[in-house]
Amino acid sequence: MIKDIFDYTKGELKAELESLGEKPYRAKQIFSWLHARSAVSFDEMTDLSKDLRARLKEKYSIGGLSVPDMQKSKLDGTRKYLFRLYDGELIEGVFMEYREWNTACISSQVGCAMGCRFCASTVDGLSRDMTAGEMVQEVYEMERSTGKKISHIVVMGSGEPLLNYDNLLRFIDIITDGDGKGVSQRNITVSTCGIVPAIERLAMEKLGREHPQINLAISLHASNDDKRKMLMPIAEKYSMAELVRASRLYYEKTHRKITFEYALVKGENDSEADARELAELLQGMPVLVNLIPVNPVTESGYSRPSREAVINFKNKLENFGINGSIRRELGSDIDGACGQLRMRHSRDARR
Ligand code: SF4
Repeated sequence: MIKDIFDYTKGELKAELESLGEKPYRAKQIFSWLHARSAVSFDEMTDLSKDLRARLKEKYSIGGLSVPDMQKSKLDGTRKYLFRLYDGELIEGVFMEYREWNTACISSQVGCAMGCRFCASTVDGLSRDMTAGEMVQEVYEMERSTGKKISHIVVMGSGEPLLNYDNLLRFIDIITDGDGKGVSQRNITVSTCGIVPAIERLAMEKLGREHPQINLAISLHASNDDKRKMLMPIAEKYSMAELVRASRLYYEKTHRKITFEYALVKGENDSEADARELAELLQGMPVLVNLIPVNPVTESGYSRPSREAVINFKNKLENFGINGSIRRELGSDIDGACGQLRMRHSRDARR
């Protein structure tokens, strides 16, 4: 079976090239063509012999991601991509422009099994894990079509990245490699709904010689277990106390400040008592609570609190000693919420 060469780390490519009877330094050349020089065909790799290029063509493909739809915000240039993968599956990615850098928000699974009640990505369940090569190509496709360099990556699109752990780590290995794109680990944020054993595993991981330097954003969305269970089925499995313990371990090992994501849902988790309980839970660890006024998804029936209620909640948290921020809304004139563009296309296809 022909394999996608984007899936290989530089170390794995070395082993592949050796098995073809080639010198290991060829791996570095090929890796640089793919990840630093944006090659999309083996013919572009002119410092390889014609014979080697022919053998590579027989054994590997280069990517296979296409863009059946893209929406561009007229307000701020945010672009929402619908990507089609080699097997026809659809996923989304978002390109966001900030003043000093550009960020890619990428998906890590096709759909999601986690069932968070406010999220469109999970409505049709999980289809499959994405490969590391597919994740890498989301970033490269956004760079290619915008002509802009991406320095920051958030793994916050569809899927629970820590349930696709090995591919996530392989993706990080590839995208941070200095012979390729060389994104700083500190510019990568992985968002999780709170898979406690995987957070503990990641804390103990060595990426290179160090503990990870990637940022964790943990979706909390409630101030106590009972409320969280109503929004996020994962709360039936791991309590918030366990989740906060795992977060502390991650902070102790990595010294990276943890962000807790809190989707504010009107009348569900936006009261003063919620702010107090949340602050008590997070005391003693440097954290940021990122408040996200929930995007109304027809299926969920939840509605968004007023701007004033959001600011009030942030002020309450800060009075209780917890730093808060309000997520800047980008692309509010396009199918902005995660999973909505994909859902619309899947439904159109079924009609
Ligand atoms: S919020 Fe994240 S973990 Fe929860 S269902 Fe959506 S994609 Fe999955």
